Amino acid sequence: MSATDPNKYPIELPFPDIARYREGNTGVDYYTSFDSGAAGPHVLINALVHGNEVCGVIALERLFEAGIQPKRGKLTLGFSNVAAYQAFDPGDPMASRFVDEDMNRVWDIETLEGDRKSSELERARQMRPLIDTVDLLFDVHSMQHKTDPVIVAGPLERSVALSKRLGTPEIIVADTGHAAGRRLRDYGGFGEPGSDKTAVLIECGQHWEAAAAPIAIDSVYRWLLIHDMIDEAEAGPHLLPLPPAQRVVKVEAAVTVETDKFEFAQPFTGLETLKEGELIGIDGGTEIRAPHDGCVLIMPSRRLTPGATAVRLGRWAD
Ligand SMILES: [Zn+2]
Repeated sequence: MSATDPNKYPIELPFPDIARYREGNTGVDYYTSFDSGAAGPHVLINALVHGNEVCGVIALERLFEAGIQPKRGKLTLGFSNVAAYQAFDPGDPMASRFVDEDMNRVWDIETLEGDRKSSELERARQMRPLIDTVDLLFDVHSMQHKTDPVIVAGPLERSVALSKRLGTPEIIVADTGHAAGRRLRDYGGFGEPGSDKTAVLIECGQHWEAAAAPIAIDSVYRWLLIHDMIDEAEAGPHLLPLPPAQRVVKVEAAVTVETDKFEFAQPFTGLETLKEGELIGIDGGTEIRAPHDGCVLIMPSRRLTPGATAVRLGRWAD
């Protein structure tokens, strides 16, 4: 197997039929709320911002099938890019990441309110009134490459703090988004320094690896537990052991693809730590080298089109 072609990873997870969740009760297809009637935050656990990231579907199914009922506040469970998910083809599994464009790059106000049209923007515009009512977003994702699960906490300290309360996975990436557009996790109040809203995004492992499902399930139960929406006894059977300690890597720079000839120097998969001057890649003849010792590569991409993020560069913060 080539480590450089995500299409070659085996599909170990089932892709459940989610048609039964279409109706929901929120006015937005595939979003269902459970209101405790007691005071508390509106918590959203969200799957399928990327259509081929099935571990979030499996985790939400577990909650639906368990008949989840929050003790306080309101819990919403939802599936975002259903059109892409339903187009999943095991013969070309990377193709169904999206229909027209990356749904995690459309969440700035100008784009949402602008004239551009795409399958993902249409869906984002449907979801937006609901998203606007959410206090705490947990966005479940997976990665192109088989690397350790990580939290993507964004640039704000309150999201790092909440990721530490979650307690897992071991690695927390504190980052600033992508040049190509704003992520859901940075949308509106989630990304505003003064807001009470917080978003945490988890990357549970490689998109289709069996191990990503129990990690997603563990994380959604822990998310409900830290917000006091369920009891330990209810969460217990679904949890994995916590890592001994979490580590934070701070993203300091992004390598954005400039030409249509970008190549990595090695088949990087992420979290490699490079020395100053080590070659990362070549972009149309320009060498890209590690700017300092202890330079950590964050989620190198294989979608190397101009304007996209090739890889982000960070440093261990502790
Ligand atoms: Zn994703």
